[in-house]
Amino acid sequence: MARIVQKFGGTSVGDVERIRNVARKVEAEVRAGHQVAVVVSAMAGETNKLVKFCTEINPIYDAGEYDAVVASGEQVTAGLLAIALQTIGIPARSWQGWQLPMRTDGTHGKARILGVETRDILRSMDSGEVAVVAGFQGMAESGRVTTLGRGGSDTSAVALAAALKADRCDIYTDVDGVYTTDPRIVSKARKLSRITYEEMLELASVGAKVLQTRSVEVAMKHRVRVQVLSSFAKESGSSLPGTLVVDEDENVEQLLVSGIAYSRDEAKITLVQVADRPGVAAGIFGPLADSAINVDMIVQNVSADGKATDLTFTVGKADMERALKLLGAAKAEFGYQRLISDDNVVKVSVIGVGMRSHAGVAQRMFKTLADKGINIQVISTSEIKVSVLIAEEYAELALRALHTAFGLDQA
Ligand code: ASP
Ligand code: MG
Repeated sequence: MARIVQKFGGTSVGDVERIRNVARKVEAEVRAGHQVAVVVSAMAGETNKLVKFCTEINPIYDAGEYDAVVASGEQVTAGLLAIALQTIGIPARSWQGWQLPMRTDGTHGKARILGVETRDILRSMDSGEVAVVAGFQGMAESGRVTTLGRGGSDTSAVALAAALKADRCDIYTDVDGVYTTDPRIVSKARKLSRITYEEMLELASVGAKVLQTRSVEVAMKHRVRVQVLSSFAKESGSSLPGTLVVDEDENVEQLLVSGIAYSRDEAKITLVQVADRPGVAAGIFGPLADSAINVDMIVQNVSADGKATDLTFTVGKADMERALKLLGAAKAEFGYQRLISDDNVVKVSVIGVGMRSHAGVAQRMFKTLADKGINIQVISTSEIKVSVLIAEEYAELALRALHTAFGLDQA
């Protein structure tokens, strides 16, 4: 007997018929003799609707009351799935975040999980009941309901799996796994059978929105075996298993590069001829950080004359205007000549743990782009990732060319 956590996303529980379908997937695991806890999202579109209600009443709503409103979507699906299970003869009980409780800090709207109490839920599971847990929500020390940020029920599921020491955490979603790149853009993209936690983290953070980034961090920390798979596999005629997110030593595919991600949410800002002296970078990025503007890629040149240099960095598109305003206000302080900005850019990243032990990945990437006449504006690297910023119009061409160059095209 294994202990399994299954998580079903919004489209998987999008209507009553789909909830019945989910109940049958749970039933299959129960009939196979496994102990099952299920984590559910709100029905597709429901959370957006609830968020909109809040902003309509007051755009600067109280975050604690926002949580009281948006957590309700998951409460509904947890109850409905418990009823659906009971209807087909599977004993089931729903659990709200506060009933476990799922303990979080008090950061309403994007709370972090501190710990999951398992005593009561385990007692229920040991008595033969399927536990149906409302994802996305927790309870702060104050006793108030919290939510974990959009997409947060992935993190609920992984944290619960860790706390229950589950053998597996199956994340059912509307895609059938993790792909080498976006299949809507590159038709030769293929599904990966395995991917490492670190690669998944990089993919998630550069725009492949299969799992909430935080859930991968939690999985990596607690070594939870996460599997991403489609809840519609049967309906679409494919019965292939999904993608397993695993430790590096379990990853048998050993690809040099496992995935190519892209993010359109980038805007480039350049300070031309900014003073080259200690404290300037700190002075520039300090106010941005204070205004919660996330800076992503940064490049600074060495100055030829020791006096001034150019500094380029990227921020999210939505933050560009605010960043420009802040920098504009501080022009006298940094004594730069000009401020240039461009939001017609896209970041493309090649990701793979294989590049730790193999040289030449960056070079192959640059050569591939050069052969297509694509200019690289900014480069940044980490141990398992090389990212470049290019003009937005080349995004698709770059993705396709890199996918082929790194041998990822499906046969
Ligand atoms: N329902 C929440 C959202 O839409 C949480 C989730 O689905 O993971 O963000
Ligand atoms: Mg999701």
